Amino acid sequence: MEMATWHNWARTEHASPQQFDTPGSTPELAAVIVRAAEQDRRVKAVGAGHSFTGVAVTDGTLVSLDRMTGIEAVSPTDTGALVSVRAGTRLHELSEELWSLGLALPNLGDIDVQSVAGAISTGTHGTGTNFTGLSAQVRALTTVLADGSIVECSPEHNPDLFEVSRLGIGAFGILSNVTFECVSAFRLRAHETPSSLSETLDSLDDRLRADHFEFYWFPHTDGVLTKTNTRLPGATPVDPVGRIRGFVDDEILSNGVFNAFQHLGTRAPSLIPRLNSVSARALSERTYTDRSHRVFASNRRVRFKEMEYAIPVEALPAVLEDIATWLSRTELRIGFPIEVRFAAADDVWLSTAHRRATAYVAVHQFHRGEHREYFSAVEAIARSVGGRPHWGKLHSLTAAELSEAYPRFDDVLAVRDRVDPQRMFDNACLRRVLGA
Ligand SMILES: Cc1cc2nc3c(=O)[nH]c(=O)nc-3n(C[C@H](O)[C@H](O)[C@H](O)COP(=O)(O)OP(=O)(O)OC[C@H]3O[C@@H](n4cnc5c(N)ncnc54)[C@H](O)[C@@H]3O)c2cc1C
Repeated sequence: MEMATWHNWARTEHASPQQFDTPGSTPELAAVIVRAAEQDRRVKAVGAGHSFTGVAVTDGTLVSLDRMTGIEAVSPTDTGALVSVRAGTRLHELSEELWSLGLALPNLGDIDVQSVAGAISTGTHGTGTNFTGLSAQVRALTTVLADGSIVECSPEHNPDLFEVSRLGIGAFGILSNVTFECVSAFRLRAHETPSSLSETLDSLDDRLRADHFEFYWFPHTDGVLTKTNTRLPGATPVDPVGRIRGFVDDEILSNGVFNAFQHLGTRAPSLIPRLNSVSARALSERTYTDRSHRVFASNRRVRFKEMEYAIPVEALPAVLEDIATWLSRTELRIGFPIEVRFAAADDVWLSTAHRRATAYVAVHQFHRGEHREYFSAVEAIARSVGGRPHWGKLHSLTAAELSEAYPRFDDVLAVRDRVDPQRMFDNACLRRVLGA
């Protein structure tokens, strides 16, 4: 099938693939790869296109796994179950299916429209000092390699390939199936409250004892919106956001009014500090309880560009102070809140939280705004404390710089040389971050 053009959600990347395939099974996927090799075409899988970089771009064959969805097998464990899911499944579909089985993913990011494979391939994470990102929750997977072979991987079988495939930026093969370690279904009580940056940082140790804590800082102000989610048993009665309150807070304030503010701020940047103060004050305190995945994820309709750096958690106050100093000196006016989240250390080779307790600092710019000066200032600050950029979000690092940030980088490259010597899954983004 031909596809005229493809673009990602943020409209920062476009592609004109020669071929577009939607296989319905693992053998069909293998046949697509073999055919592409015969025709001397590179291959790239795409999920929901929610990466901000060109990580899913190709001019060869673009493969969507939108026909390979749903749960395939469930094997109960003491704490939940190992759940094998087809790799094209969207996270929100998986969460609903899991809920009907009395199960859940232990943690999620702030949206859930991504595909399972796309989300793990770039190290998608949520927040919570005792919780890891999605890739570290993977216990086994099936991948189709450049020669069309179908390989099962786990810590016991093909452990090196398993390590690079559970967070592989699409460089090692196309995943057809992923097995997650899931937990028993749970609800979350969300408590959102306005605060100040100084107070939030002063009380950070206490706040980080919560199951899932994050905050949004409104640049050019001291205003912060904190979000604290507490895990409750699955049978706890729900008390979701009322329809009117939800409409006012989520649709009008967070999406509608926020969108209008972004347009206004783009035309008149000097208004941004005042608009940020209004935004920070307008979002008032609220508490609600709902199914875990409905609390973790929300709708994001205001289109933006994003860079996110993972830093050692202890460096967070100094990094935010440096960003505040930079903001006080620059003429630029930043209209998007800075998002701060947390994660436990894990051992995934390319995880941004590899072997260290992590704070994530995410900066955004309205899709129509110029982001380069802002992002590169924050990038320099984050890099000065050993920051690692999110694999699906904007950054400027190359393989040489990334190899210093990841102790297993050489092992990653060795597996790539072994399983994809002809660079079947290559594209410009991968050449920059992994080398030729
Ligand atoms: C509004 C918004 C909110 C976001 N929130 C968060 C968040 O809370 N936390 C977070 O960490 N990130 C977040 N992200 C980033 C997002 O989770 C990642 O970029 C993720 O990769 C997107 O998944 P996708 O299905 O769209 O993958 P795509 O962007 O389509 O692809 C990502 C990569 O995965 C590869 N890939 C896709 N399918 C396969 C496959 N079957 N086998 C092998 N490789 C494959 C692609 O080739 C590409 O390299 C957000 C992004 C947006 C736009």
